[in-house]
Amino acid sequence: MEQRRVRVRFAPSPTGPLHIGGVRTALYNYLFARQNGGDMILRIEDTDSQRFVPGAEDYINESLAWLGIGIDEGVREGGAYGPYKQSERRDIYRKHVKDLLDAGKAYIAFDTPAELEKARAEKPNFQYDASTRLQMRNSLAMPREEVDRLIAEGTPYVVRFLIEPGRDVKVNDLIRGEVSISSSILDDKVLYKSADDLPTYHLANIVDDHLMEVSHVIRGEEWLPSAPLHVLLYEAFGWQDTMPQFVHLPLLLKPDGKGKLSKRDGDRLGFPVFPLEWHDPKSGDISSGFRERGYLPQALVNFLALLGWNPGDDTEIMSMDDLIAKFSFAHCSKSGARFAFEKGKWFNHEYILNTPGKDLVPMFYPYLEAAGVKADAFSQDYIADVLDLVKSRAELLPDLWGQADFFFIAPEAYAEKDVKKRWKPETPELMNGLIKLLETLPDLSPATAEPVVMQWIANNGLHTGNVMNAFRLALVGRCTGPHIFEITQLLGSDETIRRVRRAVAEIKVPEA
Ligand code: GLU
Repeated sequence: MEQRRVRVRFAPSPTGPLHIGGVRTALYNYLFARQNGGDMILRIEDTDSQRFVPGAEDYINESLAWLGIGIDEGVREGGAYGPYKQSERRDIYRKHVKDLLDAGKAYIAFDTPAELEKARAEKPNFQYDASTRLQMRNSLAMPREEVDRLIAEGTPYVVRFLIEPGRDVKVNDLIRGEVSISSSILDDKVLYKSADDLPTYHLANIVDDHLMEVSHVIRGEEWLPSAPLHVLLYEAFGWQDTMPQFVHLPLLLKPDGKGKLSKRDGDRLGFPVFPLEWHDPKSGDISSGFRERGYLPQALVNFLALLGWNPGDDTEIMSMDDLIAKFSFAHCSKSGARFAFEKGKWFNHEYILNTPGKDLVPMFYPYLEAAGVKADAFSQDYIADVLDLVKSRAELLPDLWGQADFFFIAPEAYAEKDVKKRWKPETPELMNGLIKLLETLPDLSPATAEPVVMQWIANNGLHTGNVMNAFRLALVGRCTGPHIFEITQLLGSDETIRRVRRAVAEIKVPEA
C-alpha cells in the first residue's frame, strides 16, 4: 500500500483555557508531524454552543505560539481543507447526516428530555439501543406520515446512530495495540440536533478527520471509549479504508495520590495547570499560567514531552529539534504519567542556566519594570552580565530578580539580623580603610582586587570574615549573593565605594 501523507490535527473545544494535558496532546501531534514532514492542523471543535467560552480560541492560539508549536493549517493559517472551525461547516455536516439517514444507518428521534428521563427512571441502566429503541418515539417505531408531519411542524428532533448489536468492534491503537469491544454495550449516540442545527462531537469529528485526510488521530486517553463508535461511523460512511490510525495518550496524573490531574491539585500544591494566565470572562477568576510564573517555553515543552514518553535512554534535556528527531509512539507508555511539577522546576532551572544572559535580558525587563527600574538606565551588556552571574541560583524567572535586585537598586535598608551579627563597633573603621585601598585600584575585578584586599587583610592582622561580611552587607543589604569580587566588578569602583560610604554613615552599630 502506498504510504499515506502524515496529517495530524489538534482539535480542542473552546470551552475554557487549554489544560496542560491538552498542551501535551498538541505537542505530540506537532512532534510526530514534523518528524514525518507532515501537516499539523488546528481544528476548532465548537459545536457545543452551550459550552462555548469567549476568548478560549485566542487563548489556544496564543498558548501554542508561545510554546513554539507551529500550525500549518487552521483558522488563522488557512489551508486547502477549510473552514477549520466546525461552526462554519454546518452544510457539510447536514449533508453527511442526510447520507446516513438515506442509507438507513441513522434515524430520527423525537423523545423529549422529559420522556428520556422517564425511560431512565422506569428501567435501571436504560440505554437507547436495539433493546429499547422500538419503544421510543423515533422514525423506526413510528409511521412515516407521523414523522413527516412532526418535522413539518418544526418539532425538535435528533438524529441517532443505529448501532447493530453483537458486533465485535476493533480499535487499533499504536500505543495500546488492538482493543476490542462488543457493539452491544454502545448506545445509539446522538449525531445531530435540529434545535441548533449542529452535529455532535462524534459526527463532526469523524467527518472532518475524513475530509481533512487525517492520517493519525493522536489524543488523550479520555477519548478511548469513543473510539469504537468512531470506527463504526467510518464503516457506516464506507470510509474504512482511509480510517486514521488511532493513538490514545496516557493520562496526566496527580503529583501525589491517585487519579487524574486537576486544577484543584494545582491550587492545593501551588503550581499552574494552564500554559498562560486565564481570566475567566464569567466569574472574573484568574488562574495562574506557566508563562506568568516564569517558566521558559522551551523548558515547559521539554518537561511535558517526557510525561508519557521517553527517548529510550536517560537523556533529559532535549530541544524541540531533538524531540522531533527522537519522538516515537513505541516509547510512549500506556499507564498514566505523574505530573511531577518539582521536576518541571528543575527543567526550568536547567534552561535558565543554559540560556546566555543576553538572551535572558528581554525576559527580565518585566521584572525590572515592575520594580520601578527604568530599563534604559542600564546597558544591555550590564544586565546580561548580571544575569549570567546570578542565573545559577534561579528556578523561575522571578528568582532572577530576587537574586539580582541589588545590582539595580542600591540597598536602602540593611537586613537586621545580618547587621546584628556582622556590624561590629570596629566595622566603620575597617570599612574606611577598605575604601582607601579600593580607591587605589584601577578596577575591582576578582583578578585585580581580590589578591590586594586579601593581602591588606593579612598585613593588618584582620579577620577575613569580619571584613568580607560587612563589605557584602554594604553592597547587597544582606549577607547573600554571588562572590563578592564578581559583585564589585559589575558595580564598578564608584558605585562600590559609594555603597560602602553610605553603609558606614547609615548603619548604627548594634548594642552588644
Ligand atoms: N474536541 C475534542 C477535545 O476537546 C477532540 C477530541 C479528539 O481529538 O478527537 O478534546
